[in-house]
Amino acid sequence: MAKLYFYYSSMNAGKSTTLLQSDFNYRERGMETMLWTAALDDRYGQGRIVSRIGLEAQAHLFDGATDMFAAIAAQHDATPLSCVLVDEAQFLTEAQVWQLGGVADRLGIPILCYGIRTDFQGQLFPGSAALLGLADTLSEIKTICECGRKATMNLRVDGQGRAIRQGDQTEIGGNDRYVALCRRHFVEQMQR
Ligand SMILES: [Zn+2]
Repeated sequence: MAKLYFYYSSMNAGKSTTLLQSDFNYRERGMETMLWTAALDDRYGQGRIVSRIGLEAQAHLFDGATDMFAAIAAQHDATPLSCVLVDEAQFLTEAQVWQLGGVADRLGIPILCYGIRTDFQGQLFPGSAALLGLADTLSEIKTICECGRKATMNLRVDGQGRAIRQGDQTEIGGNDRYVALCRRHFVEQMQR
């Protein structure tokens, strides 16, 4: 039975790299895949997934209005898919996560979602909350804080590296706008 997977991490842990490696493994065996990323993430231009180590691939774009089930089913009709991979999955709506579960259950296609667990205030993103609740398999992609502990939090910083405490959840800057920290050092920075 096909599963819905959620690979979650803090910022800059290499999730896009992991996604592109998984995609490569399918394609190397002659299997068709479908890649998605969030329309609001225009860091790299429209419809591309780019990893910090230089890998990149074209991707379909989703926004809040995209019917993920319909779009994937249409593609699957044209060319049978072996896997669907979704980057920036924290920006999915809850309804879209249910749709992706439906793709796994009714179309039999594995869905691999990759996303940031929490925002710069330690709050779950909507897509991540839904995936933590609904995914069959949860897997953490780990990276480390400057102290060597596992980094689970994402500090948003300004141009001088100072913590930003208020703002929109989905304000997207470059990777240099965020520092992945352990909880202890995140709290210390936020209270400074
Ligand atoms: Zn630390």
